Order: sequence, then structure tokens, then C-alpha cells
Amino acid sequence: MKRIFCVIIACVFLLSVGGCRSTKVERSVYRIYASFDGERTVSAEMTFDYFNSTDTEITELAFNLYPNAYRKGAKHPPVPAQSAAQAFPNGVSYGGIEIVSCKESGDDIEFKVCGDDENILVLYLKKGVFPAERVEVEIKFKVELAECRHRLGTFDGVVNLSNWYPVLCYRDRSGFYLKPYSAIGDPFCSEVADYFVELSVPGEFTVASGGDCVKTEVGEEQTRYSFECRSVRDVAFSLCKEFEVFVGKTGDVDILFYHKGCDFAPDAVRAAELAIKTYGELFGEYPYSTFTVASVPFLQGGMEYPCIVYVSDRLEEEQFIQTTLHEAAHQWWYGMVGCNQYEHAFLDEGLAEYSTLLFYENHPEYGVTRESFIEAKNTEYREFYGVLEQLTGKVNTVMERPLDEFSGEYEYVEIAYVRSVLMLDGLRESVGDARFKRGLKAFFEKNRFAVAGPEHLAAAFRGVGSDAEGYLYSWIEGRAVA
Ligand SMILES: [Zn+2]
Repeated sequence: MKRIFCVIIACVFLLSVGGCRSTKVERSVYRIYASFDGERTVSAEMTFDYFNSTDTEITELAFNLYPNAYRKGAKHPPVPAQSAAQAFPNGVSYGGIEIVSCKESGDDIEFKVCGDDENILVLYLKKGVFPAERVEVEIKFKVELAECRHRLGTFDGVVNLSNWYPVLCYRDRSGFYLKPYSAIGDPFCSEVADYFVELSVPGEFTVASGGDCVKTEVGEEQTRYSFECRSVRDVAFSLCKEFEVFVGKTGDVDILFYHKGCDFAPDAVRAAELAIKTYGELFGEYPYSTFTVASVPFLQGGMEYPCIVYVSDRLEEEQFIQTTLHEAAHQWWYGMVGCNQYEHAFLDEGLAEYSTLLFYENHPEYGVTRESFIEAKNTEYREFYGVLEQLTGKVNTVMERPLDEFSGEYEYVEIAYVRSVLMLDGLRESVGDARFKRGLKAFFEKNRFAVAGPEHLAAAFRGVGSDAEGYLYSWIEGRAVA
């Protein structure tokens, strides 16, 4: 996500079936058949074809129920209390997800909605699934949308449909990761899978999607779109009756910009084209057929999803474009190279933010130099440090901590977006430009479609001849002085 720093401181087309040109590996597959009623309800049936890529027998499956963060009484609501008025301008509004039924191979199976905040759905399988085996489950569910400017909700005629379906929890050696939502940061982590989504909407709606539209069926009242998105961690949409689309292209990638009368659409598309091209050259190829930018009502600056990003329609041109560059970089850092954004947000945010600097260095016409960019971060960090030291007498500079250990949005932003950039710039200073870029490229290549942590970043630099571990961890553990 991209924050709006000043606020904080003050306080077609695409019929290339397949989408991703990646080599074939066994993955889980989501097939979602969803219908939006044109108001605030999405009814859906999802078939989840689970592939056990672990080395252990799986007897139950756990899914995140992110929409429940929007329900009445949620312990971990989606936005901080001080931002509620901005996120919910028309007053209190609630949403949520109801699990209607769960089946395995056509038979009802036992399930429960649990977790710290009704944020988890557990399905009990009829029998264990061994490594490299598959099992297919079906989940019928209904999502109610809150009226809000956020990731999931409807506001000003736009429906943001993201983090909206039960998505399998990330699993590591200690089991499924079950943390609840967090109003601070992007509390998400999931595995790469293949997605096939049929979405029916009232005919007047235009759909911006994080997938390739491979079929459109126009009915009397509803239009059904079929989307495919392979090798992605998530699938998101934005719907609006008034969307206009401005189209661009870079290489084989179609760039789509959805907006409601944005007066700098050609410049926004140009920035998105250049971003996909530049990051592709710097880190590794963008393997999907489309990249969509949707200008939508959004509390923060923007939000990343695979092949689609949201950018707040309230931003002025310069901030809009900078946010687009940041969110586009997340296609590499979060999208292709996954990150547990709850546990080490600094990693994908730092890399996304530093990538925007590399973009500017490659495109001097945008008028941002490395010196000006880093000086601005330095100034911001010093101000943060000074303010916190004065207020609390102590500043926690540890970068690697879960989202629930940040005191608030301000501290989170300064650690995850600013201190991380200073860390990466110092690394670049010490290893040199060429090796720094080789290290980032190696980190991308080795962790593409996996979930990586800071240890993988250190390993990538070791692989290109730079033992950066001591340096990185002195920053990550808070010992290095910025
Ligand atoms: Zn971000």
C-alpha cells in the first residue's frame, strides 16, 4: 500500500488465454462463480482444488475471511479509529461474510468460523491429503459490502471488491498462519494459485479486473464476465457504472486505466507503461498480459493486487503518479515475490518504495533525483525520530515486527516505508550500483512465485558476492542509526 505521508505527518481486449507465461507447475486452483446484485451483496460459490505442496499430511484447510473485519463488533476493524470518518464518510456501515455451506466431492463436511476475530474458516476434510495429492472442496458464501472507501466496500458508485472470498491461509512449518486483520498495514499473505472467476453484474457496470477477460456474455439484466489469472496470489476487481477506460501498451502487456473523468489519464497510463517496462528490465519480466490501474475511492494512497492496483481518486496528479509507480513495483515485491506482509512489512514496502527511486533515476523527465528522494526520506525520518523521542523518550527502531506491535500508523509508515529505504540506499552505497541491482535481480529470480523473508534478501546478496547479512540485520533489528 502507499500512504499519504503529508496527512500522517500532520498528524477488450485480452484474449491471450492463459495470461501468465510461466512454466507449468502444480498449484491450487480457485474457481469462483459470483454474482453482484448491483447494491451491496455478492453471492458466490467457490470450488477450491487444493494441491498439497507441503511435506506433511493435511487433514483440515484454513481460509482467511477478511470481509469479517467489516462486520459489526469486529475486534480488528479495517481502518484505525482516527481514520473512520474518512473511510466511512456517510457514517457507520458494516459488511461481512456468511459461509452458507461447505462440501467435499459433493458431500457436506464439517466446518467452523473461528480465529481471534471470526477471521478464519476451517474445513475438516473427509480424509487426509498427502503431499503432492489434491482435494476439491466447495464453499458457498455471501459477502455484504460496507459503504466505505476501502479495500472492500462501495462508495460514490464504485465497488471495490478485494480480499473478498475465502483465501487459503499461508502455511509454513508451524502450520497455517491465522492472524486477524489489522487496521495498520496490509495484513495479507497467500500462496500463488490459478484463478478462474465468473462474475455476473448488472449490465450497466464496467468491471476493472486483476485477470484477463476471456469471455463476456450479455444477458437481459446481467452481464457475465469470465476472467482467468494464473500464477497469482489473489484476485481483485473494481466495478462502476461510470468507469471510462484509457488503454496503453508496453511490449506484450496491455495497460488499462479505469477512471471517472480523470483529467490526466494519458499521463497516468504513460507512467504505468514505463513502470512495467522499467521494473521488468531492472528485476525480471512481468509475465502477465495486463496491468490495470483503477482510480477509485480509497482511504490511503493506493493498494496493490496482482495485475490490478487501486489508486485513490482524491490524489493530485503528481501524487497519483508516484503512487502508481509504487503500486506497480508491488507486482514484483508482494505479487511475484511474496512477502508475509503481517510479519515483515518493511520488506515489500521498502523494496516497492526503493523501486520508485530506481524508476525516477531511469526517467529523469519526472524530475526526481536520488539525492532529493533520499534527502526527503532522511528529513522525514529525523522528524519522526525527534517527535517520538520527545513524546515517549524512546524510539523503537526494530523493523521486523508484526503489525500488531506498531504503536500506530505514523510509526508503521516511518519504519516500513522510510527506514527501509534508507537501509536499502546504504546497502547500495556499500556494495556499489551494479552489484546492488544484481542482488535485487537475484532476489527476484530465486523467489519468484514463492514467499520470501529478509533472510532470502541476504542470501541473494551473498549469491552475488556481497555478505550483506550483518548490515541488513543491524537495520532490521533496530541497531543501525539512520
Ligand atoms: Zn506499498
